Amino acid sequence: MIEDFEFREKQLSDRDLEMDAKLRPQRFQDFEGQKKIVANLKVFVEAAKLRDEALDHVLLHGPPGLGKTTLAYIIANEMDVGIKISSGPVLDKPGDLAGLLTGLEEGDVLFIDEIHRLSPVVEEYLYSAMEDYTIDIMIDKGPSARSVQLSLQPFTLIGATTRSGLLTGPLRARFGITSLLEYYDADILTGIVKRSAKILRVGIDDNAAEEIASRSRGTPRIANALLRRIRDFAQVKGDGNIDMKITGYGLESLNIDRSGLDEMDNKILTTIIEKFQGGPVGLNTIATAVGEEAGTIEEVYEPFLIKEGYIKRTPRGREVTRIAYEHLGKYRNDQNLLF
Ligand code: ADP
Repeated sequence: MIEDFEFREKQLSDRDLEMDAKLRPQRFQDFEGQKKIVANLKVFVEAAKLRDEALDHVLLHGPPGLGKTTLAYIIANEMDVGIKISSGPVLDKPGDLAGLLTGLEEGDVLFIDEIHRLSPVVEEYLYSAMEDYTIDIMIDKGPSARSVQLSLQPFTLIGATTRSGLLTGPLRARFGITSLLEYYDADILTGIVKRSAKILRVGIDDNAAEEIASRSRGTPRIANALLRRIRDFAQVKGDGNIDMKITGYGLESLNIDRSGLDEMDNKILTTIIEKFQGGPVGLNTIATAVGEEAGTIEEVYEPFLIKEGYIKRTPRGREVTRIAYEHLGKYRNDQNLLF
């Protein structure tokens, strides 16, 4: 199995990946939230099983840490098939892809993370594999070089992407099932924190779980990471149980923003306020000012800031709201009106 997540948008250490695997739900019933997506996937999985066919190809898109990899594993478990894992930047030669594809058994899942980063030649190889379960490979070199068609076992490609806008039309069109994952509400995240605490065998009070959830940027991976850090504080500075007091102490020591925004979120808001009088300002201008790609801001950061009401999209560009000013403790002087 090829495991390489080095190119995730938010880099993860080996230890994080190990913990991710430990806390990862294995079945649909343990996967909290994303109700519509899960309900639909359950139907498609059941139908494919009834027909004894491979599940249609699935494209999962959404910001990092929301459960794309987890869903891929769950689909393979529920289909009762094997799974192979790779990622767009790692699969840089058609030969690597051919090796992976020919190694798949009937119905297996091939999960490609960061699928928008596949090189065009590898992507083209995928087309026939996805459509007819065949690939053309070149054998021999020089004058005797020729192309041979290999048939593959029927399989399911699950592609994950944080940047669906970068996917080419032909690739996107070959996915029969497309799901957009959304940020989690605090009450669902609270459930995830409690479930993870149980797996980690640490006691946690309800209000402490809620507090951790509300500081996690709507993201299960961040909620789990915070839980692990607070568990450390509870063990060393407390009595081992995670209560509100130790949670408050831990979050403060970790410098976690009280609304769960991360450094880049705050940088984007501060920049719009300080350099562009609160907006409206164009996406590319913001991107240049904060030193991040416009696409990443649009697809990774902005959706959360909009969902939480910090930013508005207007026809003339992005504008911060009163909530953003309040959050940063700044004031806007607008026609002599202070708010
Ligand atoms: P992505 O592939 O979207 O970056 P992952 O699937 O790796 O995200 O999820 C990160 C971690 O968050 C996983 O280890 C898993 O434990 C947890 N997680 C994600 N979604 C859920 C969920 N719906 N319920 C419970 N835990 C979740």
